[in-house]
Amino acid sequence: MNGNGGSERIVLHIPTNFTAEEFAELCRIEKGTSAFEELEETLPLIRQYGAPKAIIKWAGVDRVEGDETTIEGVTFHSRVVADKLRDTPRVFLSVVTAGEGLEQSGQFADDAFLDLYDGALLFHAYKYLDRYMKERFRFDGSSVLSPGSLPDWPIQNNFALFDMIGNVDEIGVSLNGAGYIRPWNSGSHIHFSGDGYQNCSLCRKYDCIGRRAPFDRAEYVRIFGTEP
Ligand code: SF4
Repeated sequence: MNGNGGSERIVLHIPTNFTAEEFAELCRIEKGTSAFEELEETLPLIRQYGAPKAIIKWAGVDRVEGDETTIEGVTFHSRVVADKLRDTPRVFLSVVTAGEGLEQSGQFADDAFLDLYDGALLFHAYKYLDRYMKERFRFDGSSVLSPGSLPDWPIQNNFALFDMIGNVDEIGVSLNGAGYIRPWNSGSHIHFSGDGYQNCSLCRKYDCIGRRAPFDRAEYVRIFGTEP
């Protein structure tokens, strides 16, 4: 089936052809610092062993009613999901991972920056995926819903999302009994065309260092009908 047909599942092995400057930006390391020098030295190993991957799959939105959203026969209960997908006929489902290439190489065993590098590989994978959806499908998937980041749509929704995507093991990703993703530097999402929505805009962990959008109080009140 072609990419506009509704059920194509695409596995992406994401190239690690970034420059030291590009990767340092993802790590939030400034040029001219000792951390940058260290990154520059390690970059060939990161590029050689880093193995970020993703699986994406088109899905049709069947129905939105109240706080229920049915996607390809699976019903999710969430005010945010219903609010965001109300006028959306089609979404991309995705699982994205930094992979465990660096750990498995054995080259980073004593590297204090290993977790930082894995986090940057995950951001690199997100950026690649955004570009891929735009270039191949002309789909702006930068608006994203993720299970677990808001109490309104808890982490257990990963079970249904993973089932819908299917065979996520293929990229080395799995869920533990509570619905959390392994390896840690991975994420699951529903991408939709919109205004660049991120769950961070409704998340009350105000001082989170991973925040990707400012908290939007007015939007919180509109969707949840209560003050944060
Ligand atoms: S602010 Fe932090 S905890 Fe909240 S959704 Fe964003 S990244 Fe997750």
